[in-house]
Amino acid sequence: MEWYYVEGQERRGPLGDEEFQQRVADQTIGPETFVWNPDLPDWQRFASLPARDSSQSQAPVLERCAECGQHQPSDQMIPFGAVYVCGGCKPVFFRRVRQGTVYPVTAPYAGFGIRACAKIIDWVIIGVFQTAIQTAWMIFFPPDFENPLFIIMSGLMGLMGMVLTIGYCTWFIGRFGATPGKMACGLKVVMPDRSGVSYPRALGRAFGELVSGMVLYIGYIMVAFDEQRRALHDFFCDTRVIHI
Ligand SMILES: [Zn+2]
Repeated sequence: MEWYYVEGQERRGPLGDEEFQQRVADQTIGPETFVWNPDLPDWQRFASLPARDSSQSQAPVLERCAECGQHQPSDQMIPFGAVYVCGGCKPVFFRRVRQGTVYPVTAPYAGFGIRACAKIIDWVIIGVFQTAIQTAWMIFFPPDFENPLFIIMSGLMGLMGMVLTIGYCTWFIGRFGATPGKMACGLKVVMPDRSGVSYPRALGRAFGELVSGMVLYIGYIMVAFDEQRRALHDFFCDTRVIHI
């Protein structure tokens, strides 16, 4: 914003916002000083300016898009109630408004990239536990293929990764709405109305994830193409993953 002001009989300026604020602070510009900027129809006394022109910076603030979650300057976005939508998401968002699938509390859906990050963190955590348990198993039960108990236990060890993963996802999502990986990425699994996910549904979702991972992770990749960023297991369980 370019500012001008009158000092004596002289016009001063242009001044940037910061410079202008400094002149106000050191009282070069007082309440009775005539000031002007390109947004004003005519010269005005400083005291008669709308409050925001004198006391606030004109710099647009960054707002988060309610659809994709990306931050952009608010003056380049479309306001909708209490939320903002970016230009790219406008068609999708307003189609959903017309369809009535926009909920009063609009939280942005988490996209593929951030969800992949959360998943990798969870894999690492589960991997550490799995390795610890397997190492303990190897130490305390040396291979003995004559012993049927050893053979049964070996089979169970093979399934352990799957059992750990299902238990981990079910407990954390049922209890907190997010696995540690999702928590670290600021994500939460919710119902369409933003309420929490029950333990049985979290269990179903954990099994659904196995299916999502079966064929080249296609069930996960669907996140990138769905408007509401649902993976296959989100479709199964009617869940959504949102930024919190
Ligand atoms: Zn957007």
